[in-house]
Amino acid sequence: MVETRLPRNPKSKEWLAKDHSLQYIADYKPFNFVDGEGVRCSLYVSGCLFNCPGCYNKAAQNFHYGQPYTQDLEDKIIEDLSQSYVQGLTLLGGEPFLNTQVCLKLVKRVRKEFGHEKDIWSWSGYTWEELMKESSDKLELLHYLDILVDGRFLLAKKDLTLQFRGSSNQRIIDVPQSLQTGKVAIWDKLVH
Ligand code: SF4
Repeated sequence: MVETRLPRNPKSKEWLAKDHSLQYIADYKPFNFVDGEGVRCSLYVSGCLFNCPGCYNKAAQNFHYGQPYTQDLEDKIIEDLSQSYVQGLTLLGGEPFLNTQVCLKLVKRVRKEFGHEKDIWSWSGYTWEELMKESSDKLELLHYLDILVDGRFLLAKKDLTLQFRGSSNQRIIDVPQSLQTGKVAIWDKLVH
């Protein structure tokens, strides 16, 4: 049967991390080559409400999935990131912007330890335009990012040839430049 259901569309500030996040982690993958540019350490947070048909990580839609985020895990991520060949941290899930307690704590530590020597990428089911009208914790997290890959996964727009995205509605956004100009700026290294 062809899936015709669409992902959910929250109103502005309808979903808040404080009401949903249990601060659980679905997975942590150090030293991978697939979640952004270069060698990366990826944190998969638990819980997402968008419910996209064809979601690449359905188990992680559950806020109870996996294990609690711990100080030990954070220390390990920082140690892994300190390797010279690691380019940066990636946040994905689940929905990082519905787990801002964990993500903000981690990105603040990353900036404190490494400044801008390591970059920070995040995926989100929210679009850039939606995030602009969202809660202060989500906007704060956005301000720590270098790259945001935005938007729901849409089966009708699925394209496996795209760099770092599953469907053609999603964009790889240069966050500092977009914030500075007030207009979405696409990553300048985008090939396809
Ligand atoms: S936004 Fe991402 S994690 Fe959430 S349901 Fe959609 S594809 Fe899955």
